[in-house]
Amino acid sequence: MAARPMPYLDDLNPAQREAVETLEGPVLMLAGAGTGKTKALTTRMVHLLNTGTARPNEILAVTFTNKAAREMKNRVGRMMGEAVEGMPWLGTFHSICVKLLRRHAELVELKSNFTILDADDQLRLLKQLVAAANIDDKRWPARQLAGIIDQWKNRAWTPENVPASEASAYDGKGVVLYAQYQTRLIELNAVDFGDLLLHMVTIFQTHDDVLAQYRRWFRYILVDEYQDTNVAQYLWLRLLAGGHKNICCVGDDDQSIYGWRGAEVGNILRFEKDFPGAHVVRLEQNYRSTPHILAAASGVIAENKDRLGKELWTEARGGKKVGLMGLWDGEEEARWVGEQIEDAQAGLGRFKYRENPRSITIEQEAERLAKGGVVSKNVEGDIHQVNLQRAEALSPTGKDNLPLPKTYNLDEIAILVRASHQMRAFEDRFLTIGLPYRVIGGPRFYERMEIRDAMAYFRLVVSPADDLAFERIVNTPKRGLGDKAQQKIQMTARQNGVSLLEGAAILLDEKGIGGKGATELAKLIDGLRRWGRLVGDQKLSHIELAEMVLDESGYTEMWQNDKTPEAPGRLENLKELVSSLEKFENLQGFLEHVSLVMENDAGQDGEKISIMTLHAAKGLEFPVVFLPGWEDGLFPSQRSMDESGQKGLEEERRLAYVGITRAEEICTISYASDRIIYGRRQPQYKSRFIDELPEEHIDDLTPPGIFGGGYGAVGMGDPFGSNIEDRAAEANVYNSPGWKRLQARAAERPLSQPKESRNMVIDAQAISAHTMGERVFHQKFGYGAIIGIEGDKLEIDFEKAGVKHVVARFVSGADD
Ligand code: ATP
Ligand code: MG
Repeated sequence: MAARPMPYLDDLNPAQREAVETLEGPVLMLAGAGTGKTKALTTRMVHLLNTGTARPNEILAVTFTNKAAREMKNRVGRMMGEAVEGMPWLGTFHSICVKLLRRHAELVELKSNFTILDADDQLRLLKQLVAAANIDDKRWPARQLAGIIDQWKNRAWTPENVPASEASAYDGKGVVLYAQYQTRLIELNAVDFGDLLLHMVTIFQTHDDVLAQYRRWFRYILVDEYQDTNVAQYLWLRLLAGGHKNICCVGDDDQSIYGWRGAEVGNILRFEKDFPGAHVVRLEQNYRSTPHILAAASGVIAENKDRLGKELWTEARGGKKVGLMGLWDGEEEARWVGEQIEDAQAGLGRFKYRENPRSITIEQEAERLAKGGVVSKNVEGDIHQVNLQRAEALSPTGKDNLPLPKTYNLDEIAILVRASHQMRAFEDRFLTIGLPYRVIGGPRFYERMEIRDAMAYFRLVVSPADDLAFERIVNTPKRGLGDKAQQKIQMTARQNGVSLLEGAAILLDEKGIGGKGATELAKLIDGLRRWGRLVGDQKLSHIELAEMVLDESGYTEMWQNDKTPEAPGRLENLKELVSSLEKFENLQGFLEHVSLVMENDAGQDGEKISIMTLHAAKGLEFPVVFLPGWEDGLFPSQRSMDESGQKGLEEERRLAYVGITRAEEICTISYASDRIIYGRRQPQYKSRFIDELPEEHIDDLTPPGIFGGGYGAVGMGDPFGSNIEDRAAEANVYNSPGWKRLQARAAERPLSQPKESRNMVIDAQAISAHTMGERVFHQKFGYGAIIGIEGDKLEIDFEKAGVKHVVARFVSGADD
């Protein structure tokens, strides 16, 4: 293939170019968030292909998630200006290893059609072995053994080479059971997740010919998120790269967040030893975030002792400080974030205008765009066009030399939570007000298995004839009612023209079913009838009833006894479900709410807010990021706080760094003073990480009265958090005709839900309660006259404090 022009190189800075153009030999790119590591890695791939140095199938590229792999493939295609024909070896460690192991299964005594066990299967198998060894599963849970074996596999230890220092593991029987487990897996022609890598490492170590073949095949190796590789992955890479040494790894020690899964950040430090003469490229310019965001992230991570220490800088100027908002509770937090998002869509509130005033006209911008020039930052492909459209939409005449107001669409907004149970409050709120969202990396809250099961119980308690609900839970937890028994219940119900529950009762009376199944079914029917009678009972709240149903049915216990890694999360979700009942008068109300909101959402395409965990957000970026739940015990997690030493806490802090650095333009951290946990309110304390945020880069939006007032002096008492300079700037903008027109447009812009449903009671009052010119009193600013009303926001000319924008609910009539 003849070399073609290389416009993609123009998009890189010199350090990135160096990393891209140094095609031969080992390269390590060690750099902070948003410095363009992934971009450089992708471009390197393009360069390999474009210069004819490598064919698509000669490149082995490892990403951390399948999603990242897909994105990289698409980007390469776009940069090449044509669809890239197959990049068969671009994927995650696991996806690549499955393919390899299928080709060489016989070398580890497997057949190529081996099955991959999930965590449940793995545990079941281990339980059998533990029982056979006469070990007390209560004292030595099989789940613990599963964890130990996983860690050993992460370290690439086969049973034969588990070191003597580990001999005491699992009551001294760990190694023996591990060996038995591996034998059993082979007999079953099965592997677990850890085996995928372990077997491949073993094969490479014991079969020189196989290794040599792949060293010839994979002529260039590229690895993203290198800081999160474990020892097995590291060995696998080192073996493959050992011949030609054409390996390029990129990573950031400050973003190592999988230590709990065996990742070893030391792999980065070892790189130069393993590959002497490695080209080490450091990137320091951040292209993603505004200076305040970058400074806030740097401030937090600087508290970690165990780090290499890197400085980041940006050319970007202006931008909003990182917002900080304290709220009463988790529900209010969700409501507030919902409002902020609507403001963002409309270009109001904190999103009112770009604080980075550009002194070029729209025409100049259009001209620069037309030339394919760089606007605010170097973006790829169609983004330019979007910017142009946005510029036109905002200023049709193009005459204004105004800072551009900014609106954000839902795709540009992400909510990043520490724990998945935090998602429930947001999902509920968004479903209620009609903001479309997607949950990345997992099902949405009400679609989770445990939530659907629990809801089926509640439905049956409220309406005993709900056959679908009955079918769902009759044998969950296991009651010895298999397919046959269930068919009998169906038949009896049909013959008698009654519900499944009634049918089951008849079947029992007729002794049509026996053994354990009969006893358990009788218990279930009794329970459902008893719980049903308690619906509406004065002495028992519906929350207590819900807890009772989940406990007495054995459902909670089922997950308590489940030792898979997912079980604790499922229990937390169940707690969250029960907590969420507090908002409703009774179970029926709650069930109606859920069916309505789920219905509402059916089949919505188009732009959506992204909700995901911080772990799932690694490598991604969004213009607007919300980071809720910054409270001790939630973030940092209780486990990391209970641990002795700083290791766990430092990993949590890196997670905070990952979170903040996902934001490009607007980053907002929030915390609540209490949360409902298992139906009971619990006081929460704001996260220690909040105190580590450098004050000068933070804008405290917390209204007075919460936590005894604001966090810093700036913006205290002003929910918009604007300081005096901001306000002056705003005033100028307000007075310009351009702004007025834009505001009118923003008002016309259909929001995804009518304003009235926001802030329900309070705002309705506020909107109708105040009139232009009315004299009012504000707790902080004193007396003044209303000179503007915009929804729940008032513009007031205060007698002492001058013109301010305040929220209606902090204002009362002067005579009240
Ligand atoms: P993370 O550590 O979070 O994974 P990263 O180092 O991989 O970050 P990228 O995602 O590659 O960073 O890049 C961050 C942003 O900066 C992207 O929007 C990318 O397009 C942009 N960018 C990267 N390099 C440049 C450059 N030389 N000029 C302009 N923009 C750039
Ligand atoms: Mg990256």
